[in-house]
Amino acid sequence: MAVTCARCQSEVSAEDIYFHQDQQVCEDCYMEMLQRPKTCDVAAVQMAKKHRQASGQSGTEGLLDIQKKIYNYIKKNEKATRQQVLDDLNLSELELDKQIAVLRHCELVKGRKEGNRIYLVPFDY
Ligand SMILES: [Zn+2]
Repeated sequence: MAVTCARCQSEVSAEDIYFHQDQQVCEDCYMEMLQRPKTCDVAAVQMAKKHRQASGQSGTEGLLDIQKKIYNYIKKNEKATRQQVLDDLNLSELELDKQIAVLRHCELVKGRKEGNRIYLVPFDY
């Protein structure tokens, strides 16, 4: 069954569709959207960065518990799909995307494409 990507309008099979902000998007668009945090996340990211810099923190110091939890989960598993993190940490998609954006900016986590899957991996993976 083919599904149309809400962003680039390309047709992809249903198992390659990702949900992002209530939209069905293809993998490429999803990656791009992950890499470009939405405006509403910028304040959170800058706060996290500033706070970390000001207190000379590195690694996961100064992160929110939920951000540490996500980071430690990904680190422990070396790589994890978004769905695994959602299931195992019992998060909403909105919450996960928000925290991933912050972790990306703190250079702790990044997206990585392997085959036809996208994984979240530690930044120094
Ligand atoms: Zn697309």
